[in-house]
Amino acid sequence: MADETDRAQCAKPGGDTLFGKIIRGEIPTNFIFQDDRCVAFNDINPQAPVHFLVVPKKPIVQLSQAEEGDASLLGHLLLVAKKCAEENHLSDGYRVVINDGRDGGQSVYHLHIHVLGKRQMAWPPG
Ligand code: AMP
Repeated sequence: MADETDRAQCAKPGGDTLFGKIIRGEIPTNFIFQDDRCVAFNDINPQAPVHFLVVPKKPIVQLSQAEEGDASLLGHLLLVAKKCAEENHLSDGYRVVINDGRDGGQSVYHLHIHVLGKRQMAWPPG
């Protein structure tokens, strides 16, 4: 967990990210969902028995930089998160997270939605 916090403290917006490489197929990744607007794949460092990411193909840097014109895309990402959660049998519920910026713990500056499930989540988050 300290590693993730350290990464978030050091991470900076700007330029291509590894999620861009994943979307373009430059880093081989098993997509659990993909369409013309987004992809979903399992997190490489899962924080729950089920932990996947939903990532728009449009390289929005972070939620705080999304614009009015992104409204439909943002809604689509949530519906894909829901669909993938159903396919992962998360019928007892799940946690949806978007980390934004340094204080939010964002380490990859390409907007993404985390979906975590199959364990009891705590509140407040750390
Ligand atoms: P965040 O800290 O909210 O920016 O989340 C970035 C997430 O990307 C972290 O949960 C990482 O474990 C995850 N991650 C980093 N590299 C990869 C990768 N190659 N494949 C899948 N997930 C990754």
